[in-house]
Amino acid sequence: MVDLDSFIRKIKAEPEFFLEVKDKFIEDKWSYNILLNTYEYMTNPPIVSSIPIDVFLPIVSFCNANCVFCKYCNNYNYYLPVEKIIYFRNILKFVRNFGFNCYGEPLLHPDFDSLACEIRKYLDPRATTYLVTNGILLSEKMDMVKKHCDSINISLNAATPETYLRIMRIKDRHYFYKVVEAIKELKDYKKKYNSDLFIQISFCVTSLNFHELPIFIELGNILKVDRIIINPLSLASKFDFKLAPKTNYNLYKKLSLMYLDYHEYRNTLYTLDQKIKNSEVDVVYSNSFQQIPSIYEEIHDDSIEITHYNCSYLYQRMMVNIDINRNAFYSRLCCYVDFYKERNYINGNIYHSFNNKNIVSWRHKFKYNPTDICKKCIYFNKNLFK
Ligand code: SF4
Ligand code: SF4
Repeated sequence: MVDLDSFIRKIKAEPEFFLEVKDKFIEDKWSYNILLNTYEYMTNPPIVSSIPIDVFLPIVSFCNANCVFCKYCNNYNYYLPVEKIIYFRNILKFVRNFGFNCYGEPLLHPDFDSLACEIRKYLDPRATTYLVTNGILLSEKMDMVKKHCDSINISLNAATPETYLRIMRIKDRHYFYKVVEAIKELKDYKKKYNSDLFIQISFCVTSLNFHELPIFIELGNILKVDRIIINPLSLASKFDFKLAPKTNYNLYKKLSLMYLDYHEYRNTLYTLDQKIKNSEVDVVYSNSFQQIPSIYEEIHDDSIEITHYNCSYLYQRMMVNIDINRNAFYSRLCCYVDFYKERNYINGNIYHSFNNKNIVSWRHKFKYNPTDICKKCIYFNKNLFK
Protein backbone atom coordinates (compact mmCIF):
# COMPACT_ATOMS: atom_id res chain seq x y z
CA MET A 1 0.00 0.00 0.00
CA VAL A 2 1.25 3.46 -0.96
CA ASP A 3 2.18 5.80 1.86
CA LEU A 4 0.53 8.90 0.46
CA ASP A 5 1.82 11.13 3.27
CA SER A 6 5.42 10.36 2.43
CA PHE A 7 4.81 11.31 -1.22
CA ILE A 8 3.13 14.52 -0.11
CA ARG A 9 6.08 15.36 2.15
CA LYS A 10 8.46 14.70 -0.68
CA ILE A 11 6.53 16.89 -3.12
CA LYS A 12 6.45 19.66 -0.54
CA ALA A 13 10.21 19.44 -0.16
CA GLU A 14 10.85 19.01 -3.86
CA PRO A 15 7.80 19.76 -6.05
CA GLU A 16 9.33 18.31 -9.23
CA PHE A 17 9.14 14.90 -7.58
CA PHE A 18 5.46 14.87 -8.57
CA LEU A 19 6.39 14.78 -12.27
CA GLU A 20 8.58 11.76 -11.64
CA VAL A 21 5.95 9.73 -9.78
CA LYS A 22 2.63 10.88 -11.20
CA ASP A 23 2.25 7.97 -13.63
CA LYS A 24 2.23 5.53 -10.74
CA PHE A 25 -1.04 7.05 -9.53
CA ILE A 26 -2.92 7.32 -12.78
CA GLU A 27 -5.32 4.49 -11.80
CA ASP A 28 -5.97 5.87 -8.34
CA LYS A 29 -7.67 9.15 -9.18
CA TRP A 30 -8.18 10.18 -5.55
CA SER A 31 -4.48 9.91 -4.69
CA TYR A 32 -3.46 11.41 -8.03
CA ASN A 33 -5.60 14.49 -7.39
CA ILE A 34 -4.10 14.95 -3.91
CA LEU A 35 -0.56 14.78 -5.26
CA LEU A 36 -1.34 17.08 -8.17
CA ASN A 37 -3.01 19.46 -5.75
CA THR A 38 0.07 19.42 -3.50
CA TYR A 39 2.25 20.12 -6.50
CA GLU A 40 0.09 23.07 -7.50
CA TYR A 41 0.01 24.34 -3.92
CA MET A 42 3.80 24.34 -3.96
CA THR A 43 4.29 25.80 -7.42
CA ASN A 44 1.46 28.37 -7.34
CA PRO A 45 0.14 28.43 -10.91
CA PRO A 46 -2.71 30.94 -11.22
CA ILE A 47 -4.89 28.32 -12.96
CA VAL A 48 -5.05 24.88 -11.40
CA SER A 49 -6.12 21.54 -12.77
CA SER A 50 -6.62 19.73 -9.48
CA ILE A 51 -9.85 19.63 -7.48
CA PRO A 52 -9.84 21.11 -3.97
CA ILE A 53 -9.07 18.49 -1.37
CA ASP A 54 -10.46 20.25 1.67
CA VAL A 55 -14.11 21.18 1.26
CA PHE A 56 -16.95 22.29 3.44
CA LEU A 57 -20.60 22.87 2.63
CA PRO A 58 -23.16 25.27 4.14
CA ILE A 59 -24.65 22.82 6.63
CA VAL A 60 -26.53 25.40 8.70
CA SER A 61 -26.61 29.20 8.69
CA PHE A 62 -27.75 29.69 12.27
CA CYS A 63 -26.09 29.34 15.62
CA ASN A 64 -26.90 28.96 19.31
CA ALA A 65 -24.27 31.61 20.04
CA ASN A 66 -23.95 35.10 18.67
CA CYS A 67 -20.24 35.90 18.81
CA VAL A 68 -19.32 39.58 18.72
CA PHE A 69 -17.02 39.04 15.77
CA CYS A 70 -19.16 36.66 13.71
CA LYS A 71 -19.99 38.04 10.30
CA TYR A 72 -21.60 35.00 8.82
CA CYS A 73 -24.28 33.32 10.82
CA ASN A 74 -27.83 34.10 11.91
CA ASN A 75 -28.48 36.18 8.79
CA TYR A 76 -31.09 33.72 7.56
CA ASN A 77 -32.52 30.37 8.49
CA TYR A 78 -31.02 27.78 6.19
CA TYR A 79 -29.88 24.23 6.60
CA LEU A 80 -28.61 21.89 3.91
CA PRO A 81 -31.22 19.25 3.01
CA VAL A 82 -29.80 15.72 2.96
CA GLU A 83 -31.04 15.19 -0.61
CA LYS A 84 -28.89 18.12 -1.87
CA ILE A 85 -25.66 16.30 -1.10
CA ILE A 86 -25.82 14.44 -4.40
CA TYR A 87 -25.26 17.79 -6.13
CA PHE A 88 -21.71 17.81 -4.73
CA ARG A 89 -20.81 14.22 -5.57
CA ASN A 90 -18.19 15.19 -8.16
CA ILE A 91 -16.33 17.27 -5.60
CA LEU A 92 -16.82 14.95 -2.65
CA LYS A 93 -15.28 11.92 -4.34
CA PHE A 94 -11.93 13.77 -4.51
CA VAL A 95 -12.00 15.31 -1.06
CA ARG A 96 -9.31 14.32 1.37
CA ASN A 97 -10.65 16.19 4.35
CA PHE A 98 -14.32 17.11 4.60
CA GLY A 99 -15.35 19.84 7.03
CA PHE A 100 -18.53 19.98 9.07
CA ASN A 101 -17.61 23.59 9.31
CA CYS A 102 -19.98 26.27 8.26
CA TYR A 103 -21.59 29.62 8.71
CA GLY A 104 -23.39 28.54 11.86
CA GLU A 105 -23.27 25.67 14.34
CA PRO A 106 -23.16 22.34 12.44
CA LEU A 107 -24.53 20.34 15.37
CA LEU A 108 -27.78 22.30 15.08
CA HIS A 109 -28.57 20.58 11.78
CA PRO A 110 -31.92 18.86 12.39
CA ASP A 111 -30.66 15.59 10.90
CA PHE A 112 -26.90 15.70 11.35
CA ASP A 113 -26.63 11.92 11.48
CA SER A 114 -28.33 11.31 8.10
CA LEU A 115 -26.47 14.23 6.54
CA ALA A 116 -23.11 12.88 7.69
CA CYS A 117 -24.00 9.36 6.46
CA GLU A 118 -25.01 10.76 3.06
CA ILE A 119 -21.77 12.74 2.75
CA ARG A 120 -19.78 9.65 3.69
CA LYS A 121 -21.47 7.77 0.83
CA TYR A 122 -19.69 9.99 -1.70
CA LEU A 123 -16.35 10.39 0.07
CA ASP A 124 -13.46 8.09 -0.68
CA PRO A 125 -13.08 5.58 2.20
CA ARG A 126 -9.63 7.07 2.87
CA ALA A 127 -11.01 10.60 3.32
CA THR A 128 -11.23 12.11 6.78
CA THR A 129 -13.74 14.52 8.32
CA TYR A 130 -13.47 17.36 10.80
CA LEU A 131 -16.00 19.32 12.80
CA VAL A 132 -15.79 22.98 13.80
CA THR A 133 -18.20 23.63 16.64
CA ASN A 134 -18.73 25.95 19.57
CA GLY A 135 -19.22 22.78 21.62
CA ILE A 136 -22.44 23.87 23.35
CA LEU A 137 -24.25 20.78 22.03
CA LEU A 138 -21.25 18.53 22.23
CA SER A 139 -22.34 16.51 25.24
CA GLU A 140 -25.80 15.86 23.75
CA LYS A 141 -24.39 14.94 20.33
CA MET A 142 -21.30 13.13 21.57
CA ASP A 143 -22.19 9.81 19.92
CA MET A 144 -22.64 11.43 16.52
CA VAL A 145 -19.36 13.28 16.82
CA LYS A 146 -17.50 10.10 17.70
CA LYS A 147 -19.22 8.27 14.85
CA HIS A 148 -18.66 10.84 12.09
CA CYS A 149 -15.61 12.98 12.91
CA ASP A 150 -11.87 12.32 12.77
CA SER A 151 -10.98 15.67 14.23
CA ILE A 152 -12.78 18.43 16.08
CA ASN A 153 -12.14 22.11 16.68
CA ILE A 154 -13.97 23.69 19.59
CA SER A 155 -14.17 27.48 19.37
CA LEU A 156 -13.97 28.58 22.99
CA ASN A 157 -12.61 32.13 22.59
CA ALA A 158 -12.27 32.55 26.35
CA ALA A 159 -10.75 31.01 29.44
CA THR A 160 -13.39 32.10 31.97
CA PRO A 161 -17.21 32.01 31.95
CA GLU A 162 -17.43 35.81 32.26
CA THR A 163 -15.43 36.47 29.11
CA TYR A 164 -17.14 33.58 27.39
CA LEU A 165 -20.49 35.32 27.92
CA ARG A 166 -19.21 38.63 26.57
CA ILE A 167 -17.73 37.07 23.45
CA MET A 168 -20.28 34.41 22.61
CA ARG A 169 -23.22 36.57 23.76
CA ILE A 170 -25.21 33.65 25.12
CA LYS A 171 -27.48 33.76 28.14
CA ASP A 172 -26.12 31.02 30.34
CA ARG A 173 -22.61 31.29 31.86
CA HIS A 174 -22.73 27.56 32.67
CA TYR A 175 -22.29 26.82 28.98
CA PHE A 176 -18.60 27.52 29.40
CA TYR A 177 -18.30 24.70 31.98
CA LYS A 178 -20.52 22.49 29.87
CA VAL A 179 -18.17 22.83 26.90
CA VAL A 180 -15.07 22.25 29.04
CA GLU A 181 -16.67 19.11 30.52
CA ALA A 182 -17.50 17.87 27.03
CA ILE A 183 -13.85 18.32 25.99
CA LYS A 184 -12.78 16.28 29.03
CA GLU A 185 -15.25 13.58 28.05
CA LEU A 186 -13.80 13.47 24.55
CA LYS A 187 -10.30 13.18 26.00
CA ASP A 188 -11.40 10.28 28.22
CA TYR A 189 -12.99 8.57 25.24
CA LYS A 190 -9.78 9.01 23.26
CA LYS A 191 -7.73 7.45 25.99
CA LYS A 192 -10.11 4.61 26.75
CA TYR A 193 -10.53 3.52 23.12
CA ASN A 194 -7.10 4.55 21.93
CA SER A 195 -8.88 6.71 19.36
CA ASP A 196 -7.09 8.93 16.84
CA LEU A 197 -9.65 11.70 17.25
CA PHE A 198 -7.73 14.99 17.03
CA ILE A 199 -8.97 17.64 19.47
CA GLN A 200 -8.13 21.30 19.14
CA ILE A 201 -9.46 24.43 20.82
CA SER A 202 -9.45 27.87 19.26
CA PHE A 203 -9.48 31.47 20.37
CA CYS A 204 -10.35 34.47 18.21
CA VAL A 205 -8.45 37.42 19.66
CA THR A 206 -10.31 40.68 20.33
CA SER A 207 -9.92 43.57 22.77
CA LEU A 208 -12.52 41.84 24.99
CA ASN A 209 -10.63 38.60 25.53
CA PHE A 210 -6.97 39.42 24.81
CA HIS A 211 -6.10 39.46 28.53
CA GLU A 212 -7.15 35.80 28.81
CA LEU A 213 -4.82 34.43 26.18
CA PRO A 214 -2.17 33.26 28.68
CA ILE A 215 -4.77 31.40 30.76
CA PHE A 216 -6.23 29.97 27.59
CA ILE A 217 -2.86 28.33 26.88
CA GLU A 218 -2.92 26.97 30.44
CA LEU A 219 -6.43 25.66 29.95
CA GLY A 220 -5.40 23.85 26.75
CA ASN A 221 -2.53 22.27 28.68
CA ILE A 222 -4.76 21.22 31.57
CA LEU A 223 -7.22 19.70 29.11
CA LYS A 224 -4.30 18.17 27.21
CA VAL A 225 -5.86 18.93 23.84
CA ASP A 226 -3.87 18.17 20.70
CA ARG A 227 -3.54 21.73 19.46
CA ILE A 228 -4.38 25.31 20.41
CA ILE A 229 -5.20 27.78 17.65
CA ILE A 230 -5.06 31.54 18.14
CA ASN A 231 -6.77 33.50 15.40
CA PRO A 232 -6.24 37.25 15.25
CA LEU A 233 -9.19 39.47 14.44
CA SER A 234 -6.87 42.00 12.90
CA LEU A 235 -7.86 40.54 9.57
CA ALA A 236 -10.74 42.95 9.62
CA SER A 237 -8.99 45.58 7.58
CA LYS A 238 -10.61 48.41 5.69
CA PHE A 239 -10.17 46.38 2.54
CA ASP A 240 -12.12 43.51 4.05
CA PHE A 241 -14.95 45.87 4.83
CA LYS A 242 -15.03 47.13 1.30
CA LEU A 243 -15.65 43.53 0.34
CA ALA A 244 -18.22 42.98 3.10
CA PRO A 245 -20.30 46.13 2.97
CA LYS A 246 -23.04 44.97 5.30
CA THR A 247 -20.74 44.22 8.21
CA ASN A 248 -20.69 46.55 11.17
CA TYR A 249 -17.34 48.27 10.81
CA ASN A 250 -17.79 50.38 13.96
CA LEU A 251 -18.29 47.31 16.10
CA TYR A 252 -15.19 45.74 14.60
CA LYS A 253 -13.15 48.83 15.38
CA LYS A 254 -14.03 48.43 19.06
CA LEU A 255 -12.84 44.86 19.00
CA SER A 256 -9.48 45.88 17.65
CA LEU A 257 -6.50 45.52 19.96
CA MET A 258 -5.60 49.14 19.39
CA TYR A 259 -8.14 49.99 22.11
CA LEU A 260 -6.12 48.19 24.76
CA ASP A 261 -3.96 50.00 27.24
CA TYR A 262 -0.44 49.79 25.79
CA HIS A 263 1.30 48.60 29.01
CA GLU A 264 -1.35 46.03 29.69
CA TYR A 265 -1.02 44.85 26.12
CA ARG A 266 2.77 44.46 26.36
CA ASN A 267 2.52 42.66 29.71
CA THR A 268 -0.03 40.21 28.41
CA LEU A 269 2.09 39.61 25.36
CA TYR A 270 5.13 38.89 27.52
CA THR A 271 3.22 36.40 29.69
CA LEU A 272 1.70 34.83 26.61
CA ASP A 273 5.10 34.37 25.08
CA GLN A 274 6.29 32.52 28.20
CA LYS A 275 3.19 30.34 28.25
CA ILE A 276 3.61 29.43 24.60
CA LYS A 277 7.29 28.57 25.15
CA ASN A 278 6.38 26.29 28.05
CA SER A 279 3.29 24.81 26.47
CA GLU A 280 3.32 21.07 26.01
CA VAL A 281 0.49 21.47 23.56
CA ASP A 282 1.26 22.71 20.06
CA VAL A 283 0.16 26.36 19.71
CA VAL A 284 -0.49 27.79 16.24
CA TYR A 285 -0.90 31.52 15.82
CA SER A 286 -0.32 34.40 13.47
CA ASN A 287 2.27 36.83 14.71
CA SER A 288 0.24 39.84 13.62
CA PHE A 289 -1.03 40.61 17.11
CA GLN A 290 2.51 40.83 18.37
CA GLN A 291 2.98 44.10 16.61
CA ILE A 292 1.14 47.15 17.81
CA PRO A 293 -2.06 46.12 16.19
CA SER A 294 -4.26 48.48 14.35
CA ILE A 295 -6.86 47.94 11.75
CA TYR A 296 -5.91 51.35 10.39
CA GLU A 297 -2.22 50.71 9.93
CA GLU A 298 -0.50 48.95 7.14
CA ILE A 299 1.83 46.16 8.14
CA HIS A 300 5.44 46.91 7.36
CA ASP A 301 7.13 43.80 8.51
CA ASP A 302 10.59 43.68 7.03
CA SER A 303 11.33 40.57 9.01
CA ILE A 304 9.20 38.59 6.56
CA GLU A 305 11.70 37.35 4.05
CA ILE A 306 9.81 34.83 2.07
CA THR A 307 10.31 34.09 -1.54
CA HIS A 308 7.54 31.57 -1.89
CA TYR A 309 4.14 32.37 -0.40
CA ASN A 310 1.64 29.70 0.45
CA CYS A 311 -1.98 29.58 1.42
CA SER A 312 -3.99 26.40 1.37
CA TYR A 313 -7.23 28.31 0.77
CA LEU A 314 -6.06 29.37 -2.64
CA TYR A 315 -5.14 25.90 -3.80
CA GLN A 316 -6.60 23.27 -1.55
CA ARG A 317 -9.79 24.46 0.11
CA MET A 318 -13.26 25.21 -1.09
CA MET A 319 -15.79 26.93 1.15
CA VAL A 320 -19.24 26.52 -0.30
CA ASN A 321 -22.02 28.86 0.78
CA ILE A 322 -25.66 29.34 -0.18
CA ASP A 323 -27.04 32.46 -1.79
CA ILE A 324 -30.45 32.35 -0.22
CA ASN A 325 -31.99 34.83 -2.64
CA ARG A 326 -31.07 32.79 -5.68
CA ASN A 327 -31.18 29.44 -3.92
CA ALA A 328 -27.79 28.75 -5.49
CA PHE A 329 -24.45 27.55 -4.13
CA TYR A 330 -21.30 29.59 -4.54
CA SER A 331 -17.76 29.29 -3.26
CA ARG A 332 -15.92 32.03 -1.48
CA LEU A 333 -12.17 32.50 -1.41
CA CYS A 334 -11.55 32.08 2.31
CA CYS A 335 -12.97 33.04 5.70
CA TYR A 336 -11.76 36.58 5.23
CA VAL A 337 -12.27 37.38 1.59
CA ASP A 338 -15.42 37.05 -0.44
CA PHE A 339 -16.06 38.56 -3.85
CA TYR A 340 -19.40 40.02 -2.94
CA LYS A 341 -20.03 41.81 -6.19
CA GLU A 342 -19.29 38.87 -8.40
CA ARG A 343 -20.15 35.65 -6.70
CA ASN A 344 -18.52 32.46 -7.83
CA TYR A 345 -21.57 30.27 -8.42
CA ILE A 346 -20.97 26.55 -8.60
CA ASN A 347 -22.46 25.44 -11.86
CA GLY A 348 -21.48 21.81 -11.91
CA ASN A 349 -18.10 22.42 -13.54
CA ILE A 350 -15.70 22.27 -10.64
CA TYR A 351 -12.64 23.28 -12.69
CA HIS A 352 -14.44 26.40 -13.73
CA SER A 353 -15.47 27.26 -10.17
CA PHE A 354 -12.00 26.69 -8.79
CA ASN A 355 -10.52 28.86 -11.54
CA ASN A 356 -12.96 31.71 -11.39
CA LYS A 357 -11.31 34.92 -12.66
CA ASN A 358 -11.29 36.55 -9.20
CA ILE A 359 -9.57 33.55 -7.63
CA VAL A 360 -7.06 33.43 -10.48
CA SER A 361 -6.25 37.09 -10.05
CA TRP A 362 -5.97 36.71 -6.25
CA ARG A 363 -3.57 33.77 -6.74
CA HIS A 364 -1.48 35.91 -9.04
CA LYS A 365 -1.41 38.80 -6.57
CA PHE A 366 -0.66 36.44 -3.69
CA LYS A 367 2.32 34.97 -5.47
CA TYR A 368 4.11 38.27 -6.04
CA ASN A 369 2.68 40.79 -3.63
CA PRO A 370 0.31 39.46 -0.96
CA THR A 371 -2.13 41.94 0.55
CA ASP A 372 -2.01 43.01 4.20
CA ILE A 373 -5.01 40.82 4.91
CA CYS A 374 -2.96 37.82 3.84
CA LYS A 375 0.13 38.88 5.75
CA LYS A 376 -1.87 39.14 8.96
CA CYS A 377 -3.64 35.87 8.36
CA ILE A 378 -3.11 32.73 10.41
CA TYR A 379 -3.11 30.67 7.20
CA PHE A 380 -0.39 32.71 5.55
CA ASN A 381 2.48 30.31 4.85
CA LYS A 382 1.05 27.80 7.31
CA ASN A 383 -0.53 24.62 6.21
CA LEU A 384 -2.81 23.58 9.04
CA PHE A 385 -4.34 20.86 6.95
CA LYS A 386 -2.97 17.56 5.78
S1 SF4 B 1 -19.93 30.03 17.39
FE1 SF4 B 1 -19.13 30.34 15.31
S2 SF4 B 1 -20.94 30.38 13.99
FE2 SF4 B 1 -21.66 30.68 16.10
S3 SF4 B 1 -21.78 32.88 16.37
FE3 SF4 B 1 -19.76 32.22 17.09
S4 SF4 B 1 -18.39 32.46 15.31
FE4 SF4 B 1 -20.53 32.52 14.54
S1 SF4 C 1 -3.66 34.11 3.46
FE1 SF4 C 1 -5.59 34.28 4.61
S2 SF4 C 1 -6.62 36.10 3.77
FE2 SF4 C 1 -5.05 35.47 2.29
S3 SF4 C 1 -6.12 34.15 0.85
FE3 SF4 C 1 -5.21 32.86 2.44
S4 SF4 C 1 -6.82 32.54 3.98
FE4 SF4 C 1 -7.42 34.31 2.68
